Amino acid sequence: MPNGGRRYATERNREAGPGLRDNVSMLSPYLRHRAITEHEVLAAVLRQHPFQAAEKFVQEVFWRTYWKGWLQMRPQVWQAFLRERDNERERLERSRERREAIACAEDGRTGIDGFDAWARELVQTGYLHNHARMWFASIWIFTLRLPWSLGADFFLRHLLDADPASNTLGWRWVAGIQTPGKTYLAQSDNIEKYTGGRHRPNALATEAHAVRDETTPQPTPLAPPVQLPSGRPALLLLHGDDLAGHEVMPSSVKLRGVLLAASGHRDHPWPFGHRAEHFVTALATDTADRLTRAGRADVHVIEALQADIVHRHCTAAGVTTLVTTEAPVGPLADGLVRLARELRDDGIEILPLRRPWDDLAWPHATHGFFRFRTRIPELLARNGLGMPEAPYE
Ligand SMILES: Cc1cc2nc3c(=O)[nH]c(=O)nc-3n(C[C@H](O)[C@H](O)[C@H](O)COP(=O)(O)OP(=O)(O)OC[C@H]3O[C@@H](n4cnc5c(N)ncnc54)[C@H](O)[C@@H]3O)c2cc1C
Repeated sequence: MPNGGRRYATERNREAGPGLRDNVSMLSPYLRHRAITEHEVLAAVLRQHPFQAAEKFVQEVFWRTYWKGWLQMRPQVWQAFLRERDNERERLERSRERREAIACAEDGRTGIDGFDAWARELVQTGYLHNHARMWFASIWIFTLRLPWSLGADFFLRHLLDADPASNTLGWRWVAGIQTPGKTYLAQSDNIEKYTGGRHRPNALATEAHAVRDETTPQPTPLAPPVQLPSGRPALLLLHGDDLAGHEVMPSSVKLRGVLLAASGHRDHPWPFGHRAEHFVTALATDTADRLTRAGRADVHVIEALQADIVHRHCTAAGVTTLVTTEAPVGPLADGLVRLARELRDDGIEILPLRRPWDDLAWPHATHGFFRFRTRIPELLARNGLGMPEAPYE
């Protein structure tokens, strides 16, 4: 928090190396699973710094919200990524040479200074600095000429913060698919400058042409938020897209217990990698401990979104309603839809509540981030984070 003000704005792009990360927060694995929320983090930063000083950090946190809203209104982009990735995987099956090229990049054996170190850091720690993610994706696509969807998949399998929206759209942005006419070219001088001279790769691509031209899909309106029926007994289902969902449940919902799902549905597997799987299980267990210590009885960690287990807990609690927070586009959302279908025949319904944070912000992700960001002061104020005595303009 002390570093979230002006220092963050001037220092955040520096990639000093593992263990030297006091210029960034490293909060993304916790924010991504909402073990802590955007609201909490921004409230803490804005308590310590005036908005003008913390503006850059605030904007970065809103990038996450913006990407989620953007994808929520264009779910076909996630489905298209999955198809493209699966097609590329199939192509790998048919070519030993391509398989070796991918293995070489993922193992950090390309001989490209910096790139190899980031590949190993990603696999060993589950984290990469934002600048390293940009350089890595750019070298993968434009220097090594590997398919962007397999690079995005490599990130998903290893990042602790692996996120359908931030990752897919981050890779699409580097590849020139997300923002027409815009690609990201990694350059040696820039890498040398921001790594403090640790890395200066040779022979990087000197041009970056968009992987393909794609018309930006129009946003489809968000489904209206579900209203939770008051007074009806229910179980609360917490999942890895929102482990703090209990904080926004209205008191009118009569909770008879809490189920914490540590992973997704068998047919929509999630988390994507082992490291994230251990991490999310630990977060779920920690959340359960904290809820129990706070006096909540009947907290159960369940391994997955599995209908028979959920059914058993509903029967034991005498409820036919599960309330949860809406999962944004991705495998957990697909898993919840699947689970709802499986439980429907048993007379059990799942009601997803959209968080006020998402409900207020997502509809503004219609165009680019620069338009979205003009809404930030209003969004902060509507979330109770405004400072009337210090106008944001
Ligand atoms: C190719 C690529 C892939 C990415 N994949 C992911 C991913 O799978 N999951 C993920 O959470 N982020 C992803 N990012 C975004 C960003 O790199 C990480 O959120 C950030 O590096 C996390 O480190 P931090 O918490 O120390 O960030 P800080 O610099 O401390 O930023 C504070 C918070 O702001 C948010 N944030 C910062 N930069 C971004 C950004 N560019 N996009 C969205 N949110 C941001 C994060 O919640 C972060 O915790 C990706 C970026 C790129 C370029």
